[in-house]
Amino acid sequence: MARLRLILFLSALCASLPALDASAGDADSIYKSCVEQCEKSGCVGSKCFQHCKFSSDGKPIDGPWYMQEPMYLRWKQWDCRSDCRYQCMLAREGEREKLGDKPVKYHGKWPFKRVYGIQEPVAVALSALNLAMQFHGWISFFILLYYKLPLRPNKKTYYEYTGLWHIYAILSMNSWFWSAVFHSRDVELTEKLDYSSAVALIGFSLILSILRAFNVRDEAARVMVAAPLAAFVTTHILYLNFYKLDYGTRFSENLFLLMIEVAFCSSILIIPLCLNTKVCTGMGITQLLVWAVWAGVTSHPSRWKLWVAVVGGGLAMLLEIYDFPPYRGFVDAHALWHATTIPCTFLWWNFVRDDAEFRTASLLKKAK
Ligand SMILES: [Zn+2]
Repeated sequence: MARLRLILFLSALCASLPALDASAGDADSIYKSCVEQCEKSGCVGSKCFQHCKFSSDGKPIDGPWYMQEPMYLRWKQWDCRSDCRYQCMLAREGEREKLGDKPVKYHGKWPFKRVYGIQEPVAVALSALNLAMQFHGWISFFILLYYKLPLRPNKKTYYEYTGLWHIYAILSMNSWFWSAVFHSRDVELTEKLDYSSAVALIGFSLILSILRAFNVRDEAARVMVAAPLAAFVTTHILYLNFYKLDYGTRFSENLFLLMIEVAFCSSILIIPLCLNTKVCTGMGITQLLVWAVWAGVTSHPSRWKLWVAVVGGGLAMLLEIYDFPPYRGFVDAHALWHATTIPCTFLWWNFVRDDAEFRTASLLKKAK
C-alpha cells in the first residue's frame, strides 16, 4: 500500500512539473484588459502602433495596397499583439514598482527592457562573446595541430580526436549564433533553432566526453558508442520541432526538478509523462559527471584545467536555479550564466590544446 501511495505521489509530481512554468504576469486582469484594449485601439496610453492597422498576414485592414507592412518588419514579427504585450507589460510593471511589488514573469519570461528592438541585449552580447571565444579556441587549436606539432607522413595529425573537436567547435559556434538570434527576438522559429542547435551540441559533446574519457580510438567502437546516442538526439530534435516544444522552460532550467524527474520518472517507467526539453539538462549533467570522474582518476598532466572547467560549469548551472528577475530590466540569472561560460570556454580549449600536445608527445615516444 505504502508503495502504491509512493508511486501515485511520484506520478502526480512528474505530471505537475510542467505546470510549474506558468507565469503570474499574464494572468493579471489589468494586464489582460490592457492587451485587449490595445489590440482594438492600437494604443497604450499615448503610444500607438502602426502594426495594429495590419492583419496578421501583413495586409492593411483599411487602406490601399501600397500601405502593406514592409517585409523586414514582418520578418521581425513586430506585430500588433507583440507590441501591445510589451507596452502593457512595461506599464503594468511601472505601476507595480510604485506599489513596491516585485517583478513577475509574463508569458514565461521576465520583464526585459528592449534596446533598439533587441529583447535581451545583455544575453545577445554575451552570446556573441561566447561565439568569439569558441572561434578563438578553435583557431588556436587548429594552428597548434597543423603548424606547431609534427604531422604523420600522410599529413594527418597524431592526435586521435582532431576531427571530433572540429565538429564540436562548429556545433558550438552554431549554437551560440542561434542563441544570440533567439535572445534578440524570441519567436517560435528562433526558439526552435536555438533549442535544436543546443541539443545537437550537448548530444555531440556527450558522445565526445565518453570517447575521450574511455580513450575509444577504434573506428568501429566509436560508431557503436555514437550511433545510439546520435539516434536519440536526432529523435529528440524531431520531437521538439514537430511535436512539442516546452515553452517557458529554458535550457537547463530547474536543475533539481530535472534530477528528481529523471530519477523518479525513469524508476517507475512513466517516462512519456515527463519527456520534455529537460532531456537536454540530463545529457549536460551526464557529461559533466563523465569528465569529472575521468579528471579524478586520470594522470593527465592538465587534469586540473578539466576539473576547474567542469566544476565551474556545474556551479554556473546553479544560476539557472536561482532564477531572479532582471536587474534594472537587463541582467538576469540566465544572462549571468552566459557570462560564466566565457572563462570556462577559455579554459576548456586550453585543456583541449594541452590534450593534443600530451597525446602527440606520448604517441611519438611510442613510435621511437
Ligand atoms: Zn540563453
